[in-house]
Amino acid sequence: MVSSVHDRNVIETFCRDSYRQRQFRNAFYKKALPLETCLNEAPELAGKVSFHCLELLERHDSKIDGATKLVFRCLEDGARIEAVILRIASGRTSLCISSQIGCAADCQFCATGKLGFIRNLTAAEMLDQVLLARRLLREEGRTLRNVVVMGMGEPLRNEANLFQCLETLRDPRFFNLSENHLMVSTVGIPDAMTRFVERFPKIRIALSLHSARQEVREKLMPVAAFQTLEKLKTVFPRLGNTAGFMVEYLMLKGINDGPEDLAALIDFLRGTNVHINLIQFNPHPGAQFEPVTEEARKAFGDELKRAGFKTTLRCSLGGDIAAACGQLAGR
Ligand code: SF4
Repeated sequence: MVSSVHDRNVIETFCRDSYRQRQFRNAFYKKALPLETCLNEAPELAGKVSFHCLELLERHDSKIDGATKLVFRCLEDGARIEAVILRIASGRTSLCISSQIGCAADCQFCATGKLGFIRNLTAAEMLDQVLLARRLLREEGRTLRNVVVMGMGEPLRNEANLFQCLETLRDPRFFNLSENHLMVSTVGIPDAMTRFVERFPKIRIALSLHSARQEVREKLMPVAAFQTLEKLKTVFPRLGNTAGFMVEYLMLKGINDGPEDLAALIDFLRGTNVHINLIQFNPHPGAQFEPVTEEARKAFGDELKRAGFKTTLRCSLGGDIAAACGQLAGR
């Protein structure tokens, strides 16, 4: 089997000259130049190393905002995965990547969850999403600033590959992305979260909470039946020492938007230095939930702010191309 270029040390194996190793990496990872141009720096890699494990099949550009959904085919088995470029009005560019094909977590509001779990992505497959997106953005004259692991899958259920991917993203020899601009989202797996913050204290972690009432959270997210709120709370002291602890709260009409939900949320997060994102629900085929009104979301947010929490009403881009939060399904 041919080694992937994303495997650490593979470039050194086939190209002995340290200057040309560096030149190749700069061209390939940092400048995201076309492969033929990069190979001018280290032609001996050709035929010995596989440069991509994904093929870009389709791109869908939103007509209402700056989102682009990228649909990739995994060369290993033909499976499809999705990543989303988010061109934010401030000029920043972010990329949301997938970590698994399908997902076992089965969150009730999520299209990926409906697929069930198919397989973990390799570290190379995660990195190739970033590389191919960076190349597209370079052609537009844009720079990729943020990478968030929030697409298809539960990243902390693919821990070894996720950690390897993050090491390469932050490595100055490879992608050289600032750790402050990386974020991983999780449904909340306390043991894995603890290992994550020990290894990557500067990378932000986003907890998909969605309810601070145990019975409501269990209905929305089956995983909550064993990863209980009580267990989740035990990692809060460790999260407090990280660069950024975010809580994601998807607002669902009549489910988690009432006064008792607000009170439970304030109580649960009291004493933490958390940033809460209130997310609007993006309907998808078969979804059984409804979004709340913007007024209701704002009022909920205002109460959280009054209680002392940093709170943002997050706008989810890409709703018209099934690229918004919870809509990715590899279709
Ligand atoms: S929201 Fe995330 S963790 Fe939950 S089913 Fe969807 S992809 Fe999996």
